[in-house]
Amino acid sequence: MSTTPPPPAGRPPSVDALARSIADTGLPHPLLVSAARDAIASGDPDAARSNAARIQQLMLQRVINATGTMLHTNLGRAPNGVSQSAGFRNLELDLATGERGSRQAQAPSLIANLCGAEAAIVVNNCASAVMLILAALAPGRGVAVSRGELVEIGGGFRVPDVMEQSGATLVEVGTTNRTRAGDYRKRIDDPESDIALVMQIHQSNFKIMGFTEMPSTRALADLGVPLASDIGSGLLDAACPWLPMGPPSWLSDEPAAKQTLADGAALVAFSGDKLLGGPQAGIIAGNAELVAKCAQHPLARALRPGGLVLGALQELALTYMRRDWEAIPFWKMAMATPDELEARANTIVTAAGVGSVVETTSVPGGGTLPTVEIPSVGISISGDRRGQLRAAPVAIMARVIDESTVLDLRTIDEADDDAVVAALREVPAST
Ligand SMILES: *Cc1c(COP(=O)(O)O)cnc(C)c1O
Repeated sequence: MSTTPPPPAGRPPSVDALARSIADTGLPHPLLVSAARDAIASGDPDAARSNAARIQQLMLQRVINATGTMLHTNLGRAPNGVSQSAGFRNLELDLATGERGSRQAQAPSLIANLCGAEAAIVVNNCASAVMLILAALAPGRGVAVSRGELVEIGGGFRVPDVMEQSGATLVEVGTTNRTRAGDYRKRIDDPESDIALVMQIHQSNFKIMGFTEMPSTRALADLGVPLASDIGSGLLDAACPWLPMGPPSWLSDEPAAKQTLADGAALVAFSGDKLLGGPQAGIIAGNAELVAKCAQHPLARALRPGGLVLGALQELALTYMRRDWEAIPFWKMAMATPDELEARANTIVTAAGVGSVVETTSVPGGGTLPTVEIPSVGISISGDRRGQLRAAPVAIMARVIDESTVLDLRTIDEADDDAVVAALREVPAST
């Protein structure tokens, strides 16, 4: 550690000298100057180094997820590595004709293929997908939604608010716990309500139990107006053909794009960074005519994704088609067996000389599958060590259970096991 140069007697050090004294932090000069200036202004020049550390902490950086929450909202949901070579890409160019092409021609059509849809487009996230569907298909008209589905998904996505912003009119049907197909039909038959669309919204992050009733997708699709289904979580196909061992039991109640469309939904909307395991994106898939209407709406231009996201989604779609599930980080962690995780935990504990191997449970997270717990294996160290672990060269996020800190192996990428060993070695063994 370099120390702050002694100021000339009675005077604080110059901003420039102080900034240069912390240059080993690697921050660019303007940020060193801010760290130094703030330290001098606070009357404590020695704070320059910790100010610089704070600036570094605020930077977007890789972290190790040891929380056991597979889709961690604060850690960017699905782990997704995008590395793309520098250079131009044919984002909106048809290489066969040399004419202008559409950015929606590539990744979206692969995703449409995977979920058995006629067509698809990609927008910024699922909230935008819902907004665009409503704006394009029900402007100034009524959209029927069950009172049991007027939910808040998290991060301020409230279905009634999105509806209002889209210019569609929300027409509530049924009650919180029970809604029947007849409730929708009454509104559809009422000319005052002017229903253009029935919207089904998956109760992603909560469950209503007990005396409940909701019509099936098929019943909703038979009401005579198009059905748009916000399935949220982005499971492509309930059969999970990319998994040689078949779908895990904890997915059994999760709606999937392919089956929802097969049951008659005209459109489905879902996120790219939940169970799909890709970058932040929203996908609208289904009937070609309705998808085209969405694509032609002026909002589509405002909500369109960039080439980085489309490139990542294209790679992901091809990986699904190759059924190379282990190359999709989400599915690799989701399907890891407790035996595999236990072997890794034992190796880490032996190498680090600290901690003990314990059974624990992982959760899907990201506002999906709220009641699902998946058996997992963790490393337990006594006391709350979260602060220490966050200060590791690659920050490690863990959770505290019963006054011990537990690192869940399921959400830790195997490639990071050595980094975990190194961080655990820094934890006092006495505890
Ligand atoms: C997560 C979720 C959303 C919001 O998705 P974003 O991609 O975060 O915009 C919307 N609807 C449902 C049902 C969801 O589960």
